[in-house]
Amino acid sequence: MRAAMAAAEVGDDVYGEDPTVNRLEALAAERFGKQAALFVTSGTQANLLALLGHCQRGDEFIAGQTAHAYRFEAGGAAVLGGIQPQPIPFTSSGELPLDGIRSAIKPDNIHFARTRLVCLENTHNGMPLSLEYLDAVSALCGEQGLALHMDGARVFNAAVALGAPVQDIVRGCDSVSVCLSKGLGAPVGSLLIGSVDLIERARRYRKMLGGGMRQAGVIAAAGLWALEHNVQRLAEDHTHAARIAAALRDRFGDAIRQVTNMLFLDLPNTVLEPLIAHMRALGVHVHRERWVLHRDVTENNISQVIEAIRTF
Ligand SMILES: *Cc1c(COP(=O)(O)O)cnc(C)c1O
Repeated sequence: MRAAMAAAEVGDDVYGEDPTVNRLEALAAERFGKQAALFVTSGTQANLLALLGHCQRGDEFIAGQTAHAYRFEAGGAAVLGGIQPQPIPFTSSGELPLDGIRSAIKPDNIHFARTRLVCLENTHNGMPLSLEYLDAVSALCGEQGLALHMDGARVFNAAVALGAPVQDIVRGCDSVSVCLSKGLGAPVGSLLIGSVDLIERARRYRKMLGGGMRQAGVIAAAGLWALEHNVQRLAEDHTHAARIAAALRDRFGDAIRQVTNMLFLDLPNTVLEPLIAHMRALGVHVHRERWVLHRDVTENNISQVIEAIRTF
Protein backbone atom coordinates (compact mmCIF):
# COMPACT_ATOMS: atom_id res chain seq x y z
CA MET A 1 0.00 0.00 0.00
CA ARG A 2 2.82 2.42 0.87
CA ALA A 3 4.57 1.59 -2.41
CA ALA A 4 1.33 2.17 -4.36
CA MET A 5 0.97 5.54 -2.64
CA ALA A 6 4.54 6.52 -3.50
CA ALA A 7 4.06 5.53 -7.15
CA ALA A 8 0.62 7.19 -7.55
CA GLU A 9 0.07 9.36 -10.59
CA VAL A 10 -1.46 12.64 -9.39
CA GLY A 11 -3.16 15.81 -10.62
CA ASP A 12 -5.38 18.52 -9.14
CA ASP A 13 -8.54 16.78 -7.97
CA VAL A 14 -10.35 20.09 -7.36
CA TYR A 15 -10.39 20.31 -11.19
CA GLY A 16 -11.18 16.59 -11.51
CA GLU A 17 -7.69 16.02 -12.92
CA ASP A 18 -6.23 13.48 -10.54
CA PRO A 19 -6.16 10.19 -12.47
CA THR A 20 -5.78 8.07 -9.34
CA VAL A 21 -8.76 9.67 -7.60
CA ASN A 22 -10.76 9.29 -10.81
CA ARG A 23 -9.84 5.62 -11.00
CA LEU A 24 -10.84 5.05 -7.40
CA GLU A 25 -14.20 6.79 -7.89
CA ALA A 26 -14.90 4.85 -11.10
CA LEU A 27 -14.00 1.52 -9.49
CA ALA A 28 -16.20 2.28 -6.46
CA ALA A 29 -19.19 3.24 -8.61
CA GLU A 30 -18.80 0.02 -10.60
CA ARG A 31 -18.37 -2.22 -7.54
CA PHE A 32 -21.49 -0.79 -5.96
CA GLY A 33 -23.54 -0.73 -9.17
CA LYS A 34 -24.21 3.02 -8.98
CA GLN A 35 -23.55 5.89 -11.38
CA ALA A 36 -20.91 7.85 -9.51
CA ALA A 37 -18.70 8.09 -6.42
CA LEU A 38 -16.85 10.79 -4.50
CA PHE A 39 -13.62 10.34 -2.52
CA VAL A 40 -13.88 12.17 0.81
CA THR A 41 -11.83 12.64 3.95
CA SER A 42 -13.84 10.50 6.38
CA GLY A 43 -16.97 8.49 6.95
CA THR A 44 -18.41 11.39 8.91
CA GLN A 45 -17.92 13.67 5.91
CA ALA A 46 -19.48 11.08 3.56
CA ASN A 47 -22.59 10.80 5.76
CA LEU A 48 -22.85 14.59 6.13
CA LEU A 49 -22.59 15.06 2.35
CA ALA A 50 -25.31 12.44 1.85
CA LEU A 51 -27.60 14.24 4.29
CA LEU A 52 -26.88 17.63 2.71
CA GLY A 53 -27.32 16.14 -0.76
CA HIS A 54 -30.67 14.47 -0.06
CA CYS A 55 -32.25 17.02 2.31
CA GLN A 56 -33.05 20.74 2.46
CA ARG A 57 -33.38 23.03 5.50
CA GLY A 58 -36.45 21.97 7.48
CA ASP A 59 -36.24 18.39 6.26
CA GLU A 60 -35.78 15.43 8.54
CA PHE A 61 -33.98 12.08 8.44
CA ILE A 62 -34.90 8.92 10.32
CA ALA A 63 -31.96 7.06 11.87
CA GLY A 64 -31.21 4.67 14.72
CA GLN A 65 -31.01 6.05 18.25
CA THR A 66 -27.40 4.91 18.50
CA ALA A 67 -26.55 5.33 14.79
CA HIS A 68 -23.20 6.85 14.01
CA ALA A 69 -24.83 9.43 11.69
CA TYR A 70 -27.08 10.61 14.53
CA ARG A 71 -25.10 10.12 17.70
CA PHE A 72 -21.41 10.28 16.83
CA GLU A 73 -21.16 12.96 14.17
CA ALA A 74 -21.48 16.07 16.34
CA GLY A 75 -24.93 16.95 15.02
CA GLY A 76 -23.43 18.03 11.69
CA ALA A 77 -26.64 17.75 9.69
CA ALA A 78 -28.47 20.05 12.14
CA VAL A 79 -25.58 22.49 12.55
CA LEU A 80 -24.61 22.79 8.89
CA GLY A 81 -27.76 21.78 7.01
CA GLY A 82 -30.73 22.76 9.18
CA ILE A 83 -31.71 19.09 8.93
CA GLN A 84 -33.50 17.56 11.92
CA PRO A 85 -32.82 14.00 13.02
CA GLN A 86 -35.69 11.69 14.01
CA PRO A 87 -34.03 8.86 15.93
CA ILE A 88 -35.87 5.58 16.56
CA PRO A 89 -34.62 2.51 18.48
CA PHE A 90 -32.69 -0.20 16.67
CA THR A 91 -33.87 -3.79 17.09
CA SER A 92 -31.40 -6.17 18.73
CA SER A 93 -30.33 -7.22 15.22
CA GLY A 94 -29.42 -3.69 14.11
CA GLU A 95 -32.53 -3.06 12.04
CA LEU A 96 -34.84 -0.07 12.07
CA PRO A 97 -38.22 -1.81 12.38
CA LEU A 98 -40.52 -1.17 9.41
CA ASP A 99 -43.44 -0.15 11.65
CA GLY A 100 -41.07 2.12 13.60
CA ILE A 101 -40.03 3.86 10.40
CA ARG A 102 -43.62 4.07 9.22
CA SER A 103 -44.90 5.64 12.39
CA ALA A 104 -41.99 8.13 12.54
CA ILE A 105 -42.83 9.57 9.10
CA LYS A 106 -44.46 12.98 9.62
CA PRO A 107 -47.70 13.85 7.85
CA ASP A 108 -47.56 16.54 5.15
CA ASN A 109 -48.72 19.40 7.37
CA ILE A 110 -47.27 22.83 8.23
CA HIS A 111 -46.67 21.75 11.83
CA PHE A 112 -44.00 19.26 10.89
CA ALA A 113 -40.54 18.96 9.43
CA ARG A 114 -40.64 17.16 6.08
CA THR A 115 -39.48 13.57 6.43
CA ARG A 116 -37.11 13.03 3.53
CA LEU A 117 -34.65 10.26 4.20
CA VAL A 118 -34.09 6.99 6.03
CA CYS A 119 -30.54 6.23 7.11
CA LEU A 120 -29.59 2.59 7.81
CA GLU A 121 -26.29 1.41 9.27
CA ASN A 122 -24.62 -1.74 7.90
CA THR A 123 -23.05 -3.29 9.84
CA HIS A 124 -24.42 -1.91 13.11
CA ASN A 125 -22.35 -3.23 16.02
CA GLY A 126 -21.02 -5.82 13.59
CA MET A 127 -24.47 -7.08 12.57
CA PRO A 128 -25.12 -7.37 8.82
CA LEU A 129 -28.57 -6.49 7.51
CA SER A 130 -30.28 -9.23 5.46
CA LEU A 131 -31.08 -8.67 1.78
CA GLU A 132 -34.77 -9.40 2.54
CA TYR A 133 -34.87 -6.66 5.17
CA LEU A 134 -33.04 -4.20 2.90
CA ASP A 135 -35.51 -4.85 0.07
CA ALA A 136 -38.41 -4.30 2.46
CA VAL A 137 -37.03 -0.94 3.67
CA SER A 138 -36.36 0.10 0.11
CA ALA A 139 -39.94 -0.76 -0.87
CA LEU A 140 -41.27 1.24 2.10
CA CYS A 141 -39.13 4.24 1.14
CA GLY A 142 -40.33 4.00 -2.46
CA GLU A 143 -43.96 3.88 -1.36
CA GLN A 144 -43.49 6.86 1.00
CA GLY A 145 -41.37 8.97 -1.37
CA LEU A 146 -38.30 8.85 0.89
CA ALA A 147 -34.67 8.52 -0.09
CA LEU A 148 -32.62 5.70 1.45
CA HIS A 149 -29.01 6.16 2.58
CA MET A 150 -26.83 3.41 3.98
CA ASP A 151 -24.03 4.27 6.38
CA GLY A 152 -21.91 1.43 5.07
CA ALA A 153 -18.73 2.29 6.94
CA ARG A 154 -18.35 -1.48 7.44
CA VAL A 155 -20.48 -2.69 4.53
CA PHE A 156 -17.68 -4.93 3.23
CA ASN A 157 -17.80 -6.85 6.50
CA ALA A 158 -21.49 -7.44 5.80
CA ALA A 159 -20.75 -8.51 2.21
CA VAL A 160 -18.09 -11.00 3.31
CA ALA A 161 -20.27 -12.36 6.12
CA LEU A 162 -23.32 -12.83 3.86
CA GLY A 163 -21.29 -14.00 0.86
CA ALA A 164 -23.18 -11.38 -1.19
CA PRO A 165 -21.72 -8.77 -3.54
CA VAL A 166 -21.93 -5.21 -2.16
CA GLN A 167 -23.83 -4.35 -5.32
CA ASP A 168 -26.71 -6.56 -4.14
CA ILE A 169 -26.57 -5.20 -0.60
CA VAL A 170 -27.02 -1.59 -1.77
CA ARG A 171 -29.34 -2.25 -4.73
CA GLY A 172 -32.30 -0.53 -3.03
CA CYS A 173 -30.27 2.37 -1.59
CA ASP A 174 -29.99 5.81 -3.18
CA SER A 175 -26.59 6.34 -1.59
CA VAL A 176 -24.00 4.56 0.50
CA SER A 177 -20.97 5.76 2.46
CA VAL A 178 -18.02 3.39 2.84
CA CYS A 179 -14.84 3.66 4.92
CA LEU A 180 -11.55 2.81 3.21
CA SER A 181 -9.88 3.27 6.59
CA LYS A 182 -10.69 0.98 9.55
CA GLY A 183 -11.00 -2.66 8.44
CA LEU A 184 -9.83 -2.01 4.88
CA GLY A 185 -6.57 -0.60 6.19
CA ALA A 186 -6.18 2.71 4.31
CA PRO A 187 -4.72 5.52 6.45
CA VAL A 188 -7.50 7.94 5.48
CA GLY A 189 -10.51 8.25 3.25
CA SER A 190 -14.08 7.23 2.59
CA LEU A 191 -16.41 7.16 -0.38
CA LEU A 192 -19.91 8.44 -1.03
CA ILE A 193 -21.57 6.50 -3.83
CA GLY A 194 -24.86 7.23 -5.62
CA SER A 195 -26.45 8.91 -8.64
CA VAL A 196 -24.61 11.46 -10.79
CA ASP A 197 -26.97 14.20 -9.52
CA LEU A 198 -26.42 13.39 -5.86
CA ILE A 199 -22.65 13.13 -6.27
CA GLU A 200 -22.48 16.49 -8.07
CA ARG A 201 -24.38 18.15 -5.21
CA ALA A 202 -22.09 16.39 -2.74
CA ARG A 203 -19.01 17.58 -4.63
CA ARG A 204 -20.08 21.21 -4.16
CA TYR A 205 -20.76 20.65 -0.45
CA ARG A 206 -17.44 18.87 -0.03
CA LYS A 207 -15.68 21.97 -1.41
CA MET A 208 -17.77 24.19 0.88
CA LEU A 209 -16.74 22.09 3.90
CA GLY A 210 -13.06 22.41 3.01
CA GLY A 211 -12.84 18.87 1.72
CA GLY A 212 -11.67 19.70 -1.79
CA MET A 213 -8.22 18.12 -2.04
CA ARG A 214 -5.46 18.76 -4.58
CA GLN A 215 -2.98 15.92 -5.36
CA ALA A 216 -5.17 13.50 -3.46
CA GLY A 217 -4.04 10.58 -5.62
CA VAL A 218 -1.41 9.84 -2.99
CA ILE A 219 -4.14 8.83 -0.55
CA ALA A 220 -6.60 7.58 -3.18
CA ALA A 221 -3.93 5.04 -4.17
CA ALA A 222 -4.19 3.60 -0.66
CA GLY A 223 -7.96 3.35 -1.11
CA LEU A 224 -7.56 1.58 -4.45
CA TRP A 225 -5.09 -0.83 -2.88
CA ALA A 226 -7.56 -1.46 -0.06
CA LEU A 227 -10.44 -2.22 -2.44
CA GLU A 228 -8.30 -4.48 -4.58
CA HIS A 229 -6.44 -6.38 -1.84
CA ASN A 230 -8.06 -6.03 1.56
CA VAL A 231 -11.73 -6.93 1.10
CA GLN A 232 -11.78 -10.74 0.98
CA ARG A 233 -9.33 -10.96 3.86
CA LEU A 234 -11.94 -9.41 6.19
CA ALA A 235 -13.08 -13.02 6.61
CA GLU A 236 -9.89 -13.59 8.67
CA ASP A 237 -10.92 -10.83 11.07
CA HIS A 238 -14.29 -12.54 11.49
CA THR A 239 -12.59 -15.87 12.23
CA HIS A 240 -10.23 -14.18 14.69
CA ALA A 241 -13.17 -12.51 16.45
CA ALA A 242 -14.99 -15.86 16.68
CA ARG A 243 -11.91 -17.56 18.19
CA ILE A 244 -11.57 -14.85 20.83
CA ALA A 245 -15.30 -15.04 21.52
CA ALA A 246 -15.04 -18.81 22.07
CA ALA A 247 -12.23 -18.30 24.61
CA LEU A 248 -14.21 -15.57 26.37
CA ARG A 249 -17.35 -17.75 26.46
CA ASP A 250 -15.39 -20.52 28.16
CA ARG A 251 -14.87 -18.06 31.01
CA PHE A 252 -17.90 -15.80 30.89
CA GLY A 253 -20.66 -17.68 29.02
CA ASP A 254 -23.50 -15.75 27.43
CA ALA A 255 -22.13 -12.34 28.41
CA ILE A 256 -20.14 -12.39 25.18
CA ARG A 257 -21.65 -11.24 21.89
CA GLN A 258 -19.72 -11.47 18.65
CA VAL A 259 -20.72 -10.81 15.06
CA THR A 260 -18.35 -10.31 12.10
CA ASN A 261 -15.30 -8.41 13.42
CA MET A 262 -16.81 -7.07 16.66
CA LEU A 263 -16.99 -8.41 20.19
CA PHE A 264 -18.97 -7.05 23.10
CA LEU A 265 -18.29 -8.08 26.70
CA ASP A 266 -21.44 -7.51 28.77
CA LEU A 267 -19.52 -7.90 32.04
CA PRO A 268 -19.78 -5.91 35.27
CA ASN A 269 -16.89 -3.49 35.88
CA THR A 270 -15.82 -5.65 38.81
CA VAL A 271 -14.89 -8.32 36.26
CA LEU A 272 -14.07 -6.20 33.22
CA GLU A 273 -11.52 -3.94 34.91
CA PRO A 274 -9.40 -6.75 36.40
CA LEU A 275 -9.56 -8.58 33.04
CA ILE A 276 -8.29 -5.48 31.22
CA ALA A 277 -5.52 -5.03 33.82
CA HIS A 278 -4.50 -8.70 33.59
CA MET A 279 -4.34 -8.57 29.80
CA ARG A 280 -2.40 -5.31 29.88
CA ALA A 281 0.19 -6.89 32.17
CA LEU A 282 0.65 -9.56 29.48
CA GLY A 283 1.09 -6.92 26.77
CA VAL A 284 -2.46 -7.04 25.35
CA HIS A 285 -3.95 -3.57 25.39
CA VAL A 286 -7.75 -3.42 25.37
CA HIS A 287 -9.59 -0.35 26.55
CA ARG A 288 -13.20 -1.20 27.15
CA GLU A 289 -16.02 -3.68 26.58
CA ARG A 290 -16.00 -3.39 22.77
CA TRP A 291 -13.23 -5.12 20.86
CA VAL A 292 -12.80 -4.77 17.09
CA LEU A 293 -10.59 -6.98 14.93
CA HIS A 294 -8.67 -5.68 11.91
CA ARG A 295 -5.80 -6.63 9.61
CA ASP A 296 -3.06 -5.46 11.98
CA VAL A 297 -4.17 -7.88 14.69
CA THR A 298 -2.29 -10.92 13.46
CA GLU A 299 -2.62 -14.66 13.96
CA ASN A 300 0.13 -14.50 16.62
CA ASN A 301 -1.65 -11.67 18.40
CA ILE A 302 -4.83 -13.77 18.53
CA SER A 303 -2.94 -16.56 20.32
CA GLN A 304 -1.59 -13.99 22.80
CA VAL A 305 -5.09 -12.63 23.43
CA ILE A 306 -6.52 -16.12 23.97
CA GLU A 307 -3.66 -17.02 26.31
CA ALA A 308 -4.27 -13.84 28.30
CA ILE A 309 -7.99 -14.71 28.62
CA ARG A 310 -7.23 -18.31 29.69
CA THR A 311 -4.82 -17.24 32.41
CA PHE A 312 -7.20 -14.68 33.92
C1 LIG B 1 -16.34 4.84 11.76
C2 LIG B 1 -17.77 4.99 11.34
C3 LIG B 1 -18.20 6.15 10.69
C4 LIG B 1 -17.36 7.38 10.48
O1 LIG B 1 -16.12 7.22 10.03
P1 LIG B 1 -14.93 8.28 10.29
O2 LIG B 1 -14.08 8.02 9.11
O3 LIG B 1 -14.33 7.90 11.59
O4 LIG B 1 -15.52 9.65 10.29
C5 LIG B 1 -19.51 6.21 10.30
N1 LIG B 1 -20.36 5.19 10.55
C6 LIG B 1 -19.98 4.08 11.18
C7 LIG B 1 -20.97 2.99 11.41
C8 LIG B 1 -18.67 3.94 11.60
O5 LIG B 1 -18.30 2.80 12.24
